[in-house]
Amino acid sequence: MTQVVEQVECIYQEVVRRNPGEHEFHQAVKEVLESLVPVLTRHPHYAEHRIIERICEPERQVIFRVPWQDDTGRVQINRGFRVQFNSALGPYKGGLRFHPSVYLGIVKFLGFEQIFKNAVTGMPIGGGKGGSDFDPKGRSDGEIMRFCQSFMTELHRHLGEYTDVPAGDIGVGAREIGFLFGQYKRLTNRYESAVLTGKGPSWGGALVRREATGYGVAFFIDEMLRARGQSFEGKTCVVSGSGNVAVYAVEKIHELGGKVVACSDSDGFVHHPAGIELETLKRLKEVERRRIRDYVEIHPDAVYRHGGRIWDVPCDVAVPCATQNELDGDAARRLVSNGCLAVGEGANMPTTPEGIKVFQEAGIAYGPGKAANAGGVSTSALEMQQNASRDAWTFEYTERKLREIMKEIHRACHETAEEYGRPGDYVLGANIVGFTRVAEPMVAFGLI
Ligand code: GLU
Repeated sequence: MTQVVEQVECIYQEVVRRNPGEHEFHQAVKEVLESLVPVLTRHPHYAEHRIIERICEPERQVIFRVPWQDDTGRVQINRGFRVQFNSALGPYKGGLRFHPSVYLGIVKFLGFEQIFKNAVTGMPIGGGKGGSDFDPKGRSDGEIMRFCQSFMTELHRHLGEYTDVPAGDIGVGAREIGFLFGQYKRLTNRYESAVLTGKGPSWGGALVRREATGYGVAFFIDEMLRARGQSFEGKTCVVSGSGNVAVYAVEKIHELGGKVVACSDSDGFVHHPAGIELETLKRLKEVERRRIRDYVEIHPDAVYRHGGRIWDVPCDVAVPCATQNELDGDAARRLVSNGCLAVGEGANMPTTPEGIKVFQEAGIAYGPGKAANAGGVSTSALEMQQNASRDAWTFEYTERKLREIMKEIHRACHETAEEYGRPGDYVLGANIVGFTRVAEPMVAFGLI
């Protein structure tokens, strides 16, 4: 065991040395590697095949210039990325993020997590991620379209339904996927539906894809609560963010009997003790693309805290759905001392390593993004299935499938944690399930 611990530490140090300055990537690798010590002890052949070292090195990374013209006629230059991390289980699959914070380290942390998340879903999809440092905030539809067209003009040569299938992430929704798909179709002269997911339902998109990540996280938390003999009924919940994931997490939590009392954006948060009014939230964020502070104009009994920390609002269930490292050790301690009993991550890596430690030591149910937010990419895989069979399923049927998938993800992570002597440790469970599912075909394929 100590030898394996040392071996894993060496691999981690080498990752840090080879990928300088990519802190988020280091953080994501460290968390996974720590979970793998018992697997490597039990299955020494993974070390012989150097599976971990191979998984930590992306199969391919593309970085490109994205020139475009804004509405004033000025030329703008952004940087585009696609990291094709691992294709042992299927074509690279993972979203595109358009946000000014995007650099290679962010894309690599997301791509690395995606390998394990996608494996945990049990669907035949590899892991990848992409994006750009383009900031869509305040841009017109015309600017968004020109940017997407330029982005795809370079990216299209690296994609394909059997090669790499992007979708959305922060800053990329159905509007952007539409512009990207239109340009791909024009450049290739192929109506290759399954080259992108998150499409509009009128042109090959799966019903429920928009709702899937948010619904999925609610279903996953529901499973964690059930495993402890509890339910959402009567629980006070706090959901950070107010994007696609947050909005549909709120919707499903309300349907399952919980009450969401706070949500946020990057400026501040709204606390509405009577319960967040979903229709207002949807109208503000989806239709009018406004800020969360405007919520209190419509609901004067709610309060808006500019720059405040949403995790100070007392709750039974916390659902971080905004972005990476939004919940640190301090915030975690506050949640625990306020009596929080479950945390389900709708965002990718929203809890810092210190925050995770706090949750685990307190013994609360903590569902990491890799498992808890896998409903989005699972439904993307369902979209690919429908495209391949030129079929379109109903909302109810697709949602039932999503619910089953989340239940199965929970079962696999829960049982694996028990099998490895760490009951209730979903981090360990998800990492081990994901890793072994990727490692097996990698061994079978030989050294490629
Ligand atoms: N960006 C989402 C995620 O983090 C979805 C990826 C997809 O649907 O391919 O999993």
